[in-house]
Amino acid sequence: MVKRTEVKTHNPFNGQELGSYMYMSDQQLSDCLSHANDAFQIWKVKPVSERTAVLLNAASILTDNKSRFSRLITEEMGKPIAEAEAEVLKCATVCRYYAEHAEDFLRSTEIISDAQRSSVRFDALGTILAVMPWNFPFWQVFRFLAPALAAGNTAVLKHASNVLGCGEAIRNLMLEAGCPPGVFQHLIIDYQQVETVLQSSYIKAATLTGSEKAGAAVASLAGKYLKKTVLELGGSNAFIVLDDANLDEAVSLGVRARMLNGGQSCIAAKRFIITAPLYDAFIERFEDAVRKLAVGNPLDSSTQIGPLARKDLADSLHQQVQDAIDKGARLLCGGRQNDCFYQPSVLADVVPGMRVFDEETFGPVAAIVKASNVDEAIRLSELSNYGLGVTILHQ
Ligand code: NAP
Repeated sequence: MVKRTEVKTHNPFNGQELGSYMYMSDQQLSDCLSHANDAFQIWKVKPVSERTAVLLNAASILTDNKSRFSRLITEEMGKPIAEAEAEVLKCATVCRYYAEHAEDFLRSTEIISDAQRSSVRFDALGTILAVMPWNFPFWQVFRFLAPALAAGNTAVLKHASNVLGCGEAIRNLMLEAGCPPGVFQHLIIDYQQVETVLQSSYIKAATLTGSEKAGAAVASLAGKYLKKTVLELGGSNAFIVLDDANLDEAVSLGVRARMLNGGQSCIAAKRFIITAPLYDAFIERFEDAVRKLAVGNPLDSSTQIGPLARKDLADSLHQQVQDAIDKGARLLCGGRQNDCFYQPSVLADVVPGMRVFDEETFGPVAAIVKASNVDEAIRLSELSNYGLGVTILHQ
């Protein structure tokens, strides 16, 4: 049973209230899940072309309404408007991609085995629960929704509580695209109601993108109710610059790789590991480039860094930066918080044992680490539980 009944969304740039929503009652939630299951019985037997026609319509609606949707994203979670526009267009691309390829992906194939006849067939699972984060509030939904619907599943979304306006906008645009009612539903629920969803026999699988804590909570519930899960969690990618790398390229790529989306991306470069001969030149040029980033109103097209999505996220980031300074890192620029804003920051001489090295940093903070040679650089890059990817720059 959920305790809170109302949730409000706020613009992190100015604190203005944007929307007020009521959490669903347990009865409303149960009705939605039953509706999703009824819709599945019809949706799963539709020809793939009929299902992907909805995706093509969604792509057109996204493209035609790019300005409206990107403004909503920026107002709810603070990313620069140009990045929000790119996010909306990327959602249109993923819809078109699955519209074009779903038929091929889902085609049954005969395979050779020691049985008389064997084949691989792709059947829809049923209704899938998606628990999604706020950092790419349209993209995270569409990258799951487009393939799930094309394959004949139905979907229910529990979106992050600070981007419920985006969840509602996606619900409405999918209906406008011709998605039958019940095939995709936005559940306005508290995270505590996720257990109610997972225990329903209508839910066949769950996917979550978010923090380790949320991932562990949903995975343990999925284990309890024997549901399939896909988790996409945090990352602390290393960005390694070797002696012979092109410094200009390393600095400009590094700043972009760290600062996209205000630094709130799981696949951002977070730990910059620089070999000794380039170290001093790199940190000087990197600091200079970071100081030049335009911080301000994310609705202003010249802004490169807006506020973080919530004040508690800026608070946590500041504690990580303070921990590094206390343990001997050099703060080259930034390090100041103003409500949801966090000044783009560069920390040099970071070493393992500092939180900015050991944990994920979700904001505009670059942690720079010195390595004596390539072997040490690789060893340092591997000293993390958060290896989603790694970048290595050299000639
Ligand atoms: P979060 O707190 O984990 O929230 C993500 C979603 O999980 C939200 O919808 C949230 O709902 C829900 N949630 C939180 N606790 C839950 C619980 N105990 N049970 C069920 N649901 C729960 O993460 P965030 O801070 O919003 O997002 C940033 C994190 O996501 C970062 O760690 C980032 O690296 C990761 N991320 C990973 C990827 C990837 O592809 N690997 C992509 C983007 C982001 P409420 O909002 O209602 O709490």
